[in-house]
Amino acid sequence: KRTSPSQCEFYQAAEEVLESLRPLMQKHPEYRHHKIIERIVEPERQIFFRVNWVDDNGEIQVNKGFRVEFNSALGPYKGGIRFHPSVNAGVIKFLGFEQIFKNALTGLQIGGGKGGSDFDPKGKSNNEIMRFCQAFMTELYRHIGPNTDVPAGDIGVGAREIGYMFGMYKKLVNRYEGVFTGKSINWGGSLGRTQATGYGAVYFAKYMLDARGKSLEGKKCVVSGSGNVAIYTIEKLYHLGALPITCSDSKGMIIDEDGIDLELLKELKEVRRERLTEYAKQKPNAKYIPIEEYEEGTNGVYSVPCFAAFPSATQNELNLKDAKNLLANGCECVSEGANMPSTPEAVDLFVEEKIAYGPGKAANAGGVATSQLEMAQNASMVKWTFEEVDAKLSQIMKDIFDTATEAASEFGEPTNLVLGANIAGFKKVADAMIEQGLV
Ligand code: NDP
Repeated sequence: KRTSPSQCEFYQAAEEVLESLRPLMQKHPEYRHHKIIERIVEPERQIFFRVNWVDDNGEIQVNKGFRVEFNSALGPYKGGIRFHPSVNAGVIKFLGFEQIFKNALTGLQIGGGKGGSDFDPKGKSNNEIMRFCQAFMTELYRHIGPNTDVPAGDIGVGAREIGYMFGMYKKLVNRYEGVFTGKSINWGGSLGRTQATGYGAVYFAKYMLDARGKSLEGKKCVVSGSGNVAIYTIEKLYHLGALPITCSDSKGMIIDEDGIDLELLKELKEVRRERLTEYAKQKPNAKYIPIEEYEEGTNGVYSVPCFAAFPSATQNELNLKDAKNLLANGCECVSEGANMPSTPEAVDLFVEEKIAYGPGKAANAGGVATSQLEMAQNASMVKWTFEEVDAKLSQIMKDIFDTATEAASEFGEPTNLVLGANIAGFKKVADAMIEQGLV
Protein backbone atom coordinates (compact mmCIF):
# COMPACT_ATOMS: atom_id res chain seq x y z
CA LYS A 1 0.00 0.00 0.00
CA ARG A 2 1.42 3.36 -1.06
CA THR A 3 0.17 5.81 1.53
CA SER A 4 2.59 8.71 1.30
CA PRO A 5 4.14 10.25 -1.83
CA SER A 6 7.08 11.48 0.23
CA GLN A 7 8.32 7.93 0.70
CA CYS A 8 9.05 7.29 -2.99
CA GLU A 9 12.55 5.85 -2.43
CA PHE A 10 11.21 3.52 0.24
CA TYR A 11 8.41 2.26 -2.04
CA GLN A 12 10.95 1.75 -4.83
CA ALA A 13 13.18 -0.36 -2.59
CA ALA A 14 10.24 -2.29 -1.10
CA GLU A 15 8.67 -3.01 -4.49
CA GLU A 16 11.91 -4.49 -5.79
CA VAL A 17 12.22 -6.80 -2.80
CA LEU A 18 8.55 -7.83 -2.77
CA GLU A 19 8.53 -8.55 -6.52
CA SER A 20 11.53 -10.86 -6.06
CA LEU A 21 9.79 -12.71 -3.25
CA ARG A 22 6.81 -13.92 -5.30
CA PRO A 23 8.23 -17.40 -6.08
CA LEU A 24 9.46 -17.83 -2.50
CA MET A 25 6.06 -16.94 -1.05
CA GLN A 26 4.43 -19.55 -3.28
CA LYS A 27 6.85 -22.20 -2.10
CA HIS A 28 6.67 -21.24 1.59
CA PRO A 29 3.09 -20.52 2.75
CA GLU A 30 4.33 -20.20 6.35
CA TYR A 31 5.67 -16.73 5.56
CA ARG A 32 2.17 -15.64 4.58
CA HIS A 33 0.67 -17.33 7.62
CA HIS A 34 3.02 -15.40 9.91
CA LYS A 35 2.35 -12.13 7.99
CA ILE A 36 6.08 -11.65 7.53
CA ILE A 37 5.68 -9.25 4.58
CA GLU A 38 3.30 -6.98 6.50
CA ARG A 39 5.63 -7.02 9.50
CA ILE A 40 8.95 -6.62 7.70
CA VAL A 41 7.94 -3.43 5.86
CA GLU A 42 7.14 -1.67 9.17
CA PRO A 43 10.14 -0.39 11.11
CA GLU A 44 10.26 -1.64 14.69
CA ARG A 45 10.93 1.93 15.82
CA GLN A 46 11.50 5.34 14.16
CA ILE A 47 13.04 8.27 15.98
CA PHE A 48 12.63 11.80 14.58
CA PHE A 49 14.22 14.65 16.45
CA ARG A 50 15.21 18.31 16.35
CA VAL A 51 18.88 19.29 16.23
CA ASN A 52 19.70 22.85 17.37
CA TRP A 53 23.20 24.23 16.98
CA VAL A 54 24.97 27.55 16.61
CA ASP A 55 27.01 28.40 13.50
CA ASP A 56 30.26 30.42 13.38
CA ASN A 57 28.29 33.67 12.99
CA GLY A 58 26.48 33.02 16.25
CA GLU A 59 23.23 32.20 14.42
CA ILE A 60 20.97 29.44 15.68
CA GLN A 61 20.47 26.66 13.12
CA VAL A 62 17.81 23.95 13.22
CA ASN A 63 18.04 20.60 11.44
CA LYS A 64 16.06 17.36 11.40
CA GLY A 65 17.53 14.18 12.88
CA PHE A 66 16.42 10.63 12.07
CA ARG A 67 17.15 7.08 13.18
CA VAL A 68 15.09 4.19 11.83
CA GLU A 69 15.51 0.98 13.83
CA PHE A 70 14.04 -1.31 11.24
CA ASN A 71 14.58 -4.92 12.18
CA SER A 72 16.46 -6.63 15.02
CA ALA A 73 15.68 -10.28 14.24
CA LEU A 74 19.33 -11.07 13.49
CA GLY A 75 21.14 -8.72 15.87
CA PRO A 76 21.48 -5.11 17.04
CA TYR A 77 20.30 -2.50 14.54
CA LYS A 78 23.24 -1.65 12.29
CA GLY A 79 23.55 0.91 9.53
CA GLY A 80 25.19 4.22 8.75
CA ILE A 81 24.34 7.86 9.38
CA ARG A 82 23.99 10.19 6.39
CA PHE A 83 24.40 13.97 6.49
CA HIS A 84 23.11 15.47 3.24
CA PRO A 85 20.50 18.16 2.44
CA SER A 86 18.43 15.58 0.50
CA VAL A 87 17.90 13.45 3.63
CA ASN A 88 14.28 13.01 4.74
CA ALA A 89 12.28 10.30 6.51
CA GLY A 90 11.63 8.42 3.24
CA VAL A 91 15.31 8.29 2.28
CA ILE A 92 16.35 7.00 5.70
CA LYS A 93 13.53 4.45 5.61
CA PHE A 94 14.64 3.13 2.21
CA LEU A 95 18.23 2.86 3.38
CA GLY A 96 17.17 1.09 6.59
CA PHE A 97 15.00 -1.35 4.65
CA GLU A 98 17.83 -2.26 2.26
CA GLN A 99 20.12 -2.66 5.23
CA ILE A 100 17.99 -5.47 6.73
CA PHE A 101 18.58 -7.78 3.76
CA LYS A 102 22.16 -6.67 3.14
CA ASN A 103 23.11 -7.38 6.73
CA ALA A 104 21.35 -10.75 6.63
CA LEU A 105 23.28 -11.67 3.47
CA THR A 106 26.62 -11.18 5.22
CA GLY A 107 25.75 -14.18 7.39
CA LEU A 108 26.68 -12.12 10.48
CA GLN A 109 24.50 -11.30 13.49
CA ILE A 110 23.39 -7.78 12.62
CA GLY A 111 19.93 -6.24 12.30
CA GLY A 112 19.00 -3.34 10.02
CA GLY A 113 18.82 0.39 10.73
CA LYS A 114 19.85 3.75 9.32
CA GLY A 115 19.98 7.37 10.41
CA GLY A 116 20.88 10.85 9.34
CA SER A 117 20.13 14.49 9.06
CA ASP A 118 19.35 17.09 6.41
CA PHE A 119 22.43 18.98 7.67
CA ASP A 120 24.73 19.95 4.78
CA PRO A 121 28.40 19.53 5.76
CA LYS A 122 29.61 21.35 2.62
CA GLY A 123 31.28 24.65 3.33
CA LYS A 124 31.05 24.21 7.11
CA SER A 125 34.06 24.88 9.31
CA ASN A 126 35.55 22.13 11.42
CA ASN A 127 34.06 23.73 14.54
CA GLU A 128 30.61 23.85 12.96
CA ILE A 129 30.87 20.15 12.05
CA MET A 130 31.88 19.37 15.64
CA ARG A 131 29.06 21.41 17.17
CA PHE A 132 26.51 19.83 14.85
CA CYS A 133 27.73 16.27 15.58
CA GLN A 134 27.59 16.99 19.33
CA ALA A 135 24.08 18.45 19.09
CA PHE A 136 22.92 15.46 17.00
CA MET A 137 24.29 13.10 19.62
CA THR A 138 22.62 14.83 22.59
CA GLU A 139 19.40 13.15 21.41
CA LEU A 140 20.63 10.04 19.56
CA TYR A 141 22.74 8.76 22.48
CA ARG A 142 19.71 7.57 24.43
CA HIS A 143 18.60 5.26 21.61
CA ILE A 144 21.88 3.52 20.74
CA GLY A 145 24.34 1.18 22.45
CA PRO A 146 26.80 -1.61 21.61
CA ASN A 147 24.09 -4.29 21.98
CA THR A 148 21.15 -2.15 20.83
CA ASP A 149 21.96 -0.05 17.80
CA VAL A 150 25.42 0.55 16.36
CA PRO A 151 25.64 3.37 13.76
CA ALA A 152 28.47 3.93 11.23
CA GLY A 153 29.28 6.41 8.44
CA ASP A 154 27.61 7.07 5.10
CA ILE A 155 27.41 10.07 2.76
CA GLY A 156 28.81 13.11 4.58
CA VAL A 157 29.85 11.08 7.63
CA GLY A 158 33.43 9.81 7.80
CA ALA A 159 36.03 9.27 10.51
CA ARG A 160 36.00 12.93 11.60
CA GLU A 161 32.23 13.05 12.20
CA ILE A 162 32.24 9.62 13.88
CA GLY A 163 34.98 10.88 16.20
CA TYR A 164 32.91 13.89 17.28
CA MET A 165 29.74 11.82 17.71
CA PHE A 166 31.54 9.10 19.66
CA GLY A 167 33.21 11.69 21.91
CA MET A 168 29.84 13.17 22.86
CA TYR A 169 28.27 9.75 23.37
CA LYS A 170 31.09 8.73 25.71
CA LYS A 171 30.70 11.92 27.73
CA LEU A 172 26.93 11.52 28.05
CA VAL A 173 26.84 7.85 29.06
CA ASN A 174 30.18 7.81 30.90
CA ARG A 175 31.18 4.55 29.20
CA TYR A 176 33.84 3.74 26.60
CA GLU A 177 32.20 1.14 24.40
CA GLY A 178 31.88 0.01 20.79
CA VAL A 179 28.77 2.01 19.95
CA PHE A 180 30.02 3.17 16.54
CA THR A 181 31.93 1.48 13.76
CA GLY A 182 34.20 3.27 11.33
CA LYS A 183 36.11 4.71 14.30
CA SER A 184 39.69 5.94 13.96
CA ILE A 185 42.21 3.12 14.27
CA ASN A 186 43.85 5.10 17.08
CA TRP A 187 40.95 4.43 19.43
CA GLY A 188 39.00 1.30 18.58
CA GLY A 189 38.55 1.25 14.83
CA SER A 190 39.40 -1.72 12.65
CA LEU A 191 42.13 -1.72 10.05
CA GLY A 192 40.49 -2.15 6.66
CA ARG A 193 37.11 -0.58 7.54
CA THR A 194 37.80 2.60 5.55
CA GLN A 195 38.58 0.54 2.45
CA ALA A 196 35.94 -2.16 2.96
CA THR A 197 32.94 -0.99 0.92
CA GLY A 198 34.96 -0.09 -2.18
CA TYR A 199 37.24 -3.12 -1.93
CA GLY A 200 34.19 -5.32 -1.37
CA ALA A 201 32.38 -4.01 -4.46
CA VAL A 202 35.44 -4.87 -6.57
CA TYR A 203 35.80 -8.32 -4.97
CA PHE A 204 32.13 -8.90 -5.76
CA ALA A 205 32.72 -7.94 -9.42
CA LYS A 206 35.69 -10.30 -9.48
CA TYR A 207 33.62 -13.23 -8.19
CA MET A 208 30.82 -12.51 -10.68
CA LEU A 209 33.37 -12.40 -13.51
CA ASP A 210 35.34 -15.46 -12.30
CA ALA A 211 32.12 -17.47 -12.61
CA ARG A 212 31.89 -16.39 -16.25
CA GLY A 213 35.56 -17.08 -17.01
CA LYS A 214 36.30 -13.34 -17.32
CA SER A 215 38.49 -10.90 -15.45
CA LEU A 216 39.01 -7.21 -14.74
CA GLU A 217 42.68 -7.32 -15.67
CA GLY A 218 43.62 -4.70 -18.24
CA LYS A 219 40.02 -3.51 -18.52
CA LYS A 220 38.75 0.08 -18.52
CA CYS A 221 36.32 0.76 -15.69
CA VAL A 222 34.13 3.72 -14.82
CA VAL A 223 33.48 4.82 -11.24
CA SER A 224 30.99 7.46 -10.12
CA GLY A 225 31.40 9.52 -6.95
CA SER A 226 34.67 10.56 -5.37
CA GLY A 227 34.01 9.85 -1.70
CA ASN A 228 34.92 6.94 0.52
CA VAL A 229 33.40 4.18 -1.61
CA ALA A 230 34.65 5.56 -4.95
CA ILE A 231 38.22 6.10 -3.74
CA TYR A 232 38.68 2.56 -2.42
CA THR A 233 36.92 1.06 -5.43
CA ILE A 234 39.53 2.78 -7.58
CA GLU A 235 42.34 1.55 -5.31
CA LYS A 236 41.23 -2.10 -5.47
CA LEU A 237 40.68 -1.88 -9.25
CA TYR A 238 44.35 -0.95 -9.58
CA HIS A 239 45.32 -3.89 -7.33
CA LEU A 240 43.52 -6.22 -9.74
CA GLY A 241 45.20 -4.71 -12.81
CA ALA A 242 42.17 -2.78 -14.09
CA LEU A 243 42.21 0.83 -15.34
CA PRO A 244 39.67 3.12 -13.59
CA ILE A 245 39.26 6.17 -15.84
CA THR A 246 36.48 8.25 -14.26
CA CYS A 247 35.25 9.67 -10.98
CA SER A 248 32.62 12.32 -10.28
CA ASP A 249 30.95 14.53 -7.71
CA SER A 250 27.63 16.35 -7.65
CA LYS A 251 28.97 19.11 -9.94
CA GLY A 252 30.80 17.16 -12.64
CA MET A 253 33.15 14.37 -13.62
CA ILE A 254 36.75 13.62 -14.51
CA ILE A 255 37.84 11.44 -17.42
CA ASP A 256 41.49 10.52 -17.16
CA GLU A 257 42.46 8.03 -19.84
CA ASP A 258 45.82 7.50 -18.11
CA GLY A 259 43.88 6.13 -15.14
CA ILE A 260 42.64 8.20 -12.19
CA ASP A 261 45.56 9.53 -10.14
CA LEU A 262 44.65 7.93 -6.82
CA GLU A 263 47.12 9.83 -4.67
CA LEU A 264 45.92 13.15 -6.06
CA LEU A 265 42.28 12.15 -5.58
CA LYS A 266 42.90 11.14 -1.96
CA GLU A 267 44.76 14.37 -1.27
CA LEU A 268 41.95 16.47 -2.78
CA LYS A 269 39.04 14.62 -1.18
CA GLU A 270 40.35 13.19 2.08
CA VAL A 271 42.75 15.93 3.12
CA ARG A 272 41.90 19.20 1.38
CA ARG A 273 38.15 18.51 0.85
CA GLU A 274 38.26 20.17 -2.58
CA ARG A 275 36.08 19.81 -5.68
CA LEU A 276 37.11 17.81 -8.76
CA THR A 277 37.82 20.97 -10.77
CA GLU A 278 41.08 21.04 -8.78
CA TYR A 279 42.00 17.59 -10.17
CA ALA A 280 41.76 18.90 -13.74
CA LYS A 281 43.91 21.93 -12.84
CA GLN A 282 46.70 19.62 -11.70
CA LYS A 283 46.38 17.01 -14.48
CA PRO A 284 46.29 18.74 -17.87
CA ASN A 285 45.66 15.39 -19.64
CA ALA A 286 42.47 14.80 -17.68
CA LYS A 287 39.17 16.24 -18.81
CA TYR A 288 36.65 17.84 -16.44
CA ILE A 289 33.04 17.79 -17.64
CA PRO A 290 30.49 19.79 -15.60
CA ILE A 291 27.04 18.21 -15.27
CA GLU A 292 25.52 20.93 -17.48
CA GLU A 293 27.44 19.37 -20.38
CA TYR A 294 26.25 15.77 -19.84
CA GLU A 295 23.96 14.46 -22.59
CA GLU A 296 20.45 15.43 -21.50
CA GLY A 297 18.83 12.98 -19.09
CA THR A 298 22.04 11.05 -18.46
CA ASN A 299 24.88 10.75 -15.99
CA GLY A 300 28.05 11.47 -18.02
CA VAL A 301 30.02 8.74 -16.24
CA TYR A 302 27.96 6.05 -17.95
CA SER A 303 28.48 7.45 -21.46
CA VAL A 304 32.19 6.60 -21.23
CA PRO A 305 32.97 3.23 -22.90
CA CYS A 306 34.06 0.65 -20.32
CA PHE A 307 34.11 -3.05 -19.51
CA ALA A 308 32.76 -2.57 -15.97
CA ALA A 309 30.92 0.18 -14.08
CA PHE A 310 31.00 0.88 -10.35
CA PRO A 311 28.24 3.30 -9.29
CA SER A 312 29.54 4.71 -6.00
CA ALA A 313 27.73 8.01 -5.41
CA THR A 314 24.02 7.90 -4.55
CA GLN A 315 20.55 6.48 -5.20
CA ASN A 316 19.00 6.63 -8.69
CA GLU A 317 22.15 8.00 -10.34
CA LEU A 318 21.97 5.46 -13.21
CA ASN A 319 18.75 5.45 -15.26
CA LEU A 320 17.51 3.46 -18.24
CA LYS A 321 19.25 5.74 -20.73
CA ASP A 322 22.53 5.32 -18.82
CA ALA A 323 22.05 1.55 -18.74
CA LYS A 324 21.49 1.52 -22.51
CA ASN A 325 24.59 3.66 -23.04
CA LEU A 326 26.67 1.26 -20.95
CA LEU A 327 25.44 -1.81 -22.82
CA ALA A 328 25.80 -0.17 -26.24
CA ASN A 329 29.44 0.55 -25.39
CA GLY A 330 30.15 -3.05 -24.42
CA CYS A 331 29.88 -2.92 -20.61
CA GLU A 332 29.62 -6.46 -19.21
CA CYS A 333 29.63 -5.86 -15.47
CA VAL A 334 27.98 -3.44 -13.01
CA SER A 335 28.83 -3.73 -9.32
CA GLU A 336 27.01 -1.28 -7.06
CA GLY A 337 29.04 0.36 -4.29
CA ALA A 338 26.23 2.85 -3.67
CA ASN A 339 22.80 1.98 -2.31
CA MET A 340 20.12 1.59 -5.02
CA PRO A 341 22.07 3.63 -7.61
CA SER A 342 20.22 2.06 -10.56
CA THR A 343 16.58 2.92 -11.26
CA PRO A 344 14.15 -0.05 -11.51
CA GLU A 345 14.11 0.20 -15.34
CA ALA A 346 17.92 0.10 -15.47
CA VAL A 347 17.97 -2.92 -13.12
CA ASP A 348 15.41 -4.75 -15.30
CA LEU A 349 17.57 -4.18 -18.38
CA PHE A 350 20.75 -5.48 -16.69
CA VAL A 351 18.89 -8.58 -15.48
CA GLU A 352 17.23 -9.16 -18.87
CA GLU A 353 20.56 -8.87 -20.68
CA LYS A 354 22.13 -11.24 -18.13
CA ILE A 355 25.23 -9.08 -17.61
CA ALA A 356 27.23 -9.58 -14.42
CA TYR A 357 25.09 -7.30 -12.27
CA GLY A 358 25.70 -7.05 -8.52
CA PRO A 359 22.90 -5.13 -6.75
CA GLY A 360 24.03 -2.83 -3.94
CA LYS A 361 22.66 -4.93 -1.13
CA ALA A 362 25.02 -7.71 -2.16
CA ALA A 363 27.92 -5.83 -3.78
CA ASN A 364 28.37 -3.15 -1.12
CA ALA A 365 27.80 -5.37 1.92
CA GLY A 366 31.57 -5.47 2.54
CA GLY A 367 31.33 -2.20 4.49
CA VAL A 368 28.82 -3.40 7.04
CA ALA A 369 30.44 -6.83 7.22
CA THR A 370 33.75 -5.21 8.18
CA SER A 371 31.88 -3.05 10.68
CA GLN A 372 30.77 -6.27 12.32
CA LEU A 373 34.42 -7.37 12.35
CA GLU A 374 35.17 -4.08 14.16
CA MET A 375 32.45 -4.90 16.72
CA ALA A 376 33.95 -8.37 17.20
CA GLN A 377 37.41 -6.89 17.80
CA ASN A 378 36.00 -4.29 20.24
CA ALA A 379 34.05 -6.93 22.17
CA SER A 380 37.03 -9.27 22.50
CA MET A 381 39.65 -6.50 22.94
CA VAL A 382 41.84 -7.87 20.16
CA LYS A 383 43.16 -6.19 17.02
CA TRP A 384 43.49 -7.94 13.69
CA THR A 385 46.03 -6.98 11.02
CA PHE A 386 44.98 -5.31 7.79
CA GLU A 387 45.73 -8.55 5.92
CA GLU A 388 43.53 -10.59 8.25
CA VAL A 389 40.60 -8.19 7.85
CA ASP A 390 41.06 -7.98 4.06
CA ALA A 391 41.16 -11.78 3.75
CA LYS A 392 37.96 -12.08 5.81
CA LEU A 393 36.33 -9.37 3.66
CA SER A 394 37.22 -11.15 0.44
CA GLN A 395 35.83 -14.45 1.81
CA ILE A 396 32.62 -12.75 2.96
CA MET A 397 32.09 -11.25 -0.51
CA LYS A 398 32.63 -14.71 -2.04
CA ASP A 399 30.11 -16.20 0.40
CA ILE A 400 27.57 -13.49 -0.44
CA PHE A 401 28.04 -14.17 -4.15
CA ASP A 402 27.63 -17.93 -3.59
CA THR A 403 24.59 -17.50 -1.34
CA ALA A 404 22.83 -15.18 -3.82
CA THR A 405 23.71 -17.42 -6.77
CA GLU A 406 22.44 -20.51 -4.96
CA ALA A 407 19.10 -18.86 -4.14
CA ALA A 408 18.78 -17.53 -7.71
CA SER A 409 19.53 -21.00 -9.10
CA GLU A 410 16.93 -22.61 -6.83
CA PHE A 411 14.33 -20.41 -8.51
CA GLY A 412 15.57 -21.08 -12.02
CA GLU A 413 17.48 -17.84 -12.79
CA PRO A 414 21.10 -18.46 -11.80
CA THR A 415 22.45 -15.13 -13.10
CA ASN A 416 19.71 -13.02 -11.49
CA LEU A 417 21.44 -11.79 -8.33
CA VAL A 418 18.63 -9.33 -7.58
CA LEU A 419 16.33 -12.31 -7.13
CA GLY A 420 19.01 -14.31 -5.32
CA ALA A 421 20.07 -11.55 -2.92
CA ASN A 422 16.52 -10.58 -2.01
CA ILE A 423 15.36 -14.15 -1.44
CA ALA A 424 18.42 -15.27 0.51
CA GLY A 425 18.43 -12.14 2.72
CA PHE A 426 14.69 -12.26 3.34
CA LYS A 427 14.68 -15.96 4.21
CA LYS A 428 17.25 -15.51 7.00
CA VAL A 429 15.34 -12.64 8.57
CA ALA A 430 11.89 -14.23 8.11
CA ASP A 431 12.96 -17.52 9.69
CA ALA A 432 14.42 -15.67 12.68
CA MET A 433 11.23 -13.61 13.06
CA ILE A 434 9.09 -16.76 13.11
CA GLU A 435 11.35 -18.46 15.65
CA GLN A 436 11.34 -15.39 17.92
CA GLY A 437 7.54 -15.14 17.96
CA LEU A 438 5.26 -12.16 17.48
CA VAL A 439 7.31 -9.33 19.04
P1 NDP B 1 30.85 10.15 0.65
O1 NDP B 1 30.14 11.24 1.33
O2 NDP B 1 32.23 9.79 1.07
O3 NDP B 1 30.89 10.41 -0.94
C1 NDP B 1 29.72 10.57 -1.66
C2 NDP B 1 30.07 10.88 -3.10
O4 NDP B 1 28.89 10.83 -3.89
C3 NDP B 1 30.64 12.29 -3.29
O5 NDP B 1 31.51 12.29 -4.38
C4 NDP B 1 29.40 13.11 -3.59
O6 NDP B 1 29.66 14.29 -4.34
C5 NDP B 1 28.59 12.13 -4.41
N1 NDP B 1 27.15 12.42 -4.25
C6 NDP B 1 26.44 12.34 -3.10
N2 NDP B 1 25.17 12.71 -3.29
C7 NDP B 1 25.09 13.02 -4.59
C8 NDP B 1 24.03 13.45 -5.41
N3 NDP B 1 22.79 13.64 -4.92
N4 NDP B 1 24.30 13.65 -6.74
C9 NDP B 1 25.55 13.45 -7.24
N5 NDP B 1 26.59 13.02 -6.50
C10 NDP B 1 26.36 12.82 -5.20
O7 NDP B 1 29.87 8.88 0.78
P2 NDP B 1 30.23 7.32 0.61
O8 NDP B 1 31.27 7.14 -0.41
O9 NDP B 1 30.40 6.75 1.96
O10 NDP B 1 28.83 6.76 0.06
C11 NDP B 1 28.54 6.63 -1.34
C12 NDP B 1 27.42 5.63 -1.54
O11 NDP B 1 27.81 4.35 -1.00
C13 NDP B 1 26.09 5.96 -0.84
O12 NDP B 1 25.03 5.46 -1.64
C14 NDP B 1 26.18 5.14 0.44
O13 NDP B 1 24.91 4.87 0.99
C15 NDP B 1 26.83 3.88 -0.08
N6 NDP B 1 27.46 3.03 0.91
C16 NDP B 1 28.48 3.51 1.73
C17 NDP B 1 29.07 2.68 2.64
C18 NDP B 1 30.23 3.12 3.45
O14 NDP B 1 30.85 2.26 4.10
N7 NDP B 1 30.62 4.39 3.43
C19 NDP B 1 28.57 1.30 2.85
C20 NDP B 1 27.58 0.86 1.90
C21 NDP B 1 27.04 1.73 0.99
P3 NDP B 1 29.63 15.71 -3.59
O15 NDP B 1 30.83 15.72 -2.72
O16 NDP B 1 29.66 16.73 -4.68
O17 NDP B 1 28.34 15.73 -2.81
